[in-house]
Amino acid sequence: MITRREFLTASSGSLIVAAVGSRNAAAAERPWYATMRRCGQLNLNERDPLTLDVAAWIDYWSSLKLDALLLNGGGIVAFYPTDVRYHHRSEFLGSRDLFGELAAATKSRNMRLVARMDCNYAYGDALNAHPEWFERNRDGSPRPHNESTWLYKTCMFGPYFTDQMPAIYRELNGRYPIDGFFTNGWPSTGDLAVCHCERCHKVYREQVGGVPPDRTDATSPLYRKYYDAYMNRVLDVWRRWQASVTEARPESVYVGNLGGGIRTVKNVKRLGEVARWFNADHQGRGGDTVIWDCAQQGRVARAVMEDRTVTNVTGAYSNSRPTWRHVAKAPAETTMWMAQTAASGMVPWFHWLGGAPEDTRWKEVGRDFFAWLAANEPHFRNTRSVADVAVLYPQRTIAFYRSGSGPRDWRGAERAQTAEYLQGLYYALLEGRFFFDFVHEDDLRTETLSRYRALLIPNAAYVSDQHCRQIRDYVSGGGSLLATFETSLYSEWGDRRSDFALADLFGASADGDTIGPLGNSYMRIERRHATLTGFEGTALLPGPENRVPLRETAAGDAVSLTVVPYYPAFPPEMVFPRTPRTNQPAALFHDRSRSRVAYFAGDVERTFWRSGNPDLGLLLQNTVRWLRGDTRPLVSLDGDGIVETFAWETEPGYALHILNYTNPNMTRGFIRRFYAIGAQKAAFTVSRGRRIAAVRALRTARALPFSQDGDLVRFEVPSVTDYEVIALT
Ligand SMILES: [Zn+2]
Repeated sequence: MITRREFLTASSGSLIVAAVGSRNAAAAERPWYATMRRCGQLNLNERDPLTLDVAAWIDYWSSLKLDALLLNGGGIVAFYPTDVRYHHRSEFLGSRDLFGELAAATKSRNMRLVARMDCNYAYGDALNAHPEWFERNRDGSPRPHNESTWLYKTCMFGPYFTDQMPAIYRELNGRYPIDGFFTNGWPSTGDLAVCHCERCHKVYREQVGGVPPDRTDATSPLYRKYYDAYMNRVLDVWRRWQASVTEARPESVYVGNLGGGIRTVKNVKRLGEVARWFNADHQGRGGDTVIWDCAQQGRVARAVMEDRTVTNVTGAYSNSRPTWRHVAKAPAETTMWMAQTAASGMVPWFHWLGGAPEDTRWKEVGRDFFAWLAANEPHFRNTRSVADVAVLYPQRTIAFYRSGSGPRDWRGAERAQTAEYLQGLYYALLEGRFFFDFVHEDDLRTETLSRYRALLIPNAAYVSDQHCRQIRDYVSGGGSLLATFETSLYSEWGDRRSDFALADLFGASADGDTIGPLGNSYMRIERRHATLTGFEGTALLPGPENRVPLRETAAGDAVSLTVVPYYPAFPPEMVFPRTPRTNQPAALFHDRSRSRVAYFAGDVERTFWRSGNPDLGLLLQNTVRWLRGDTRPLVSLDGDGIVETFAWETEPGYALHILNYTNPNMTRGFIRRFYAIGAQKAAFTVSRGRRIAAVRALRTARALPFSQDGDLVRFEVPSVTDYEVIALT
């Protein structure tokens, strides 16, 4: 019975109750993984059932305050007494139901349980009984694993994916309280495999028209059709598996294995359309990979998932080159990877391999970071990015770009270099301390682009007519544009057009074949322009390594930068310009009534990345500032050091994330220790009418003095050691 007093209280607060009620209802409608902030994974090996201490492991993972824990269900090896035929039980399982023990212990500590599966390999007995499950070489032979040669690669087009894996999901779902399923290794965002099994021959015959292509590059018309058939199959399997895992548990979810950072081949936009949860298996870096590789992964994933769940795996083991699975990564490197994950809006997923570690140094590293995340959780609940510059993510150019039709004709000599245009622009933006988002080339809708003052295109050479129309619409709607080099000179599959599809915007047409690669060419400053600030002491700037010869068509502004063609760099006696002055534009800057357009004829951003010459970086930074015009940036951060920044509107207010990359191991791992940077002056634009009551540095746990003038909040961050998050509430 409700009392009169309670009734009156409820009535007088009915508006508030209604508002809170609808908010709670909205939260209740969100799936459990939408609000997840911390994830962990113990990756079992076949021998673990002999020795695994379930209680000790669950104690550890629980101490990380995980929302979800990933544990091995099956696929290659079942860690429970499976009845599915050819689902190989661990040889060491004995009478144990290891997955069952782990599942019960996980749930008893209020963590969600995700079954980690592997759909990529199976044993020889399965190969004998179900030859149609497996990939084949051209001669019909199966494909054994390169190290574990008793395992054979399964074919994604075959019934292993549509019959066997769903049977395993159903069995697991029927026995254990599983909240989701994750498949290791599949589908990935990398290159496409070509298989010669009977099923694949049928696919080629019926959907592609022909036989499997020898060349997996977009110059082959067969490959172009195969790419679509392959993507369609991936999406079909993904949807089927989502349906399988939700048959018995509607709140469950299937999670595929994506990642790849900025170097992707499979269409991540299409993958993002079926994925309810995007997991980036992007665990660390080796060789000369830059430290910001993880933050870039976050930007790519967010471009296709927006506010839906994105996780990124951090390997606690040493996944360098070479890889060591059973020793810990350098703690500072591990921390910076997790920090980038959180800063870029992804959910950290901390991963160790093997149930009986002899190296336990990684445990404290994960616990420290996760405990800090948990203590500050609301500030990592982002509602939108605060950025006014967009960078087009040119996925097809990164995947397919070639300069000819030969097998080694990647533009710039090797495939790895197709991402260097983006990498060069990215580094210029970091140095210039811009706040920016990635937009995927398949998402150039007005709703997406209208959030940004400028769109920056790092050589999107392969771009469709439709995308060009959308870019033109954006500019005619008042958006400003930076484009470089061969942008729009080819179709989305790499067929050369007679001219740039965006020639009207650039104010120039391509006039002949691309020139380069050549060093020792220059750009001559013909007249001063805002983009040339800081070059008062020189008439020459370093020229890009490759350039498109131009015929200027629009009666635009006078040309500020012209080409000084290549001349010999050796021997010194021969080093003088043969043609010191030309009318050939190196760049065109158009100031139209509502928008500004900058076009560089050369690959200035890639040349910047490869050479490290700071003039090219400054030129790019000046250009972005000029594009923005007189409008104040939404957020700025001034101070010394190489940092990457993210600004978010959050559930409680706003958050400014600062990652300190100032480190001798910035472009070659691993980071051993941090070098703190000094005071950073911030100015942050908040919504009109919003009063900020407190500004707090979360990593150093201290309040910061601040001032607010209208919608602009100013404060100073005294120093940043590894990572700092400033919460404005
Ligand atoms: Zn096949």
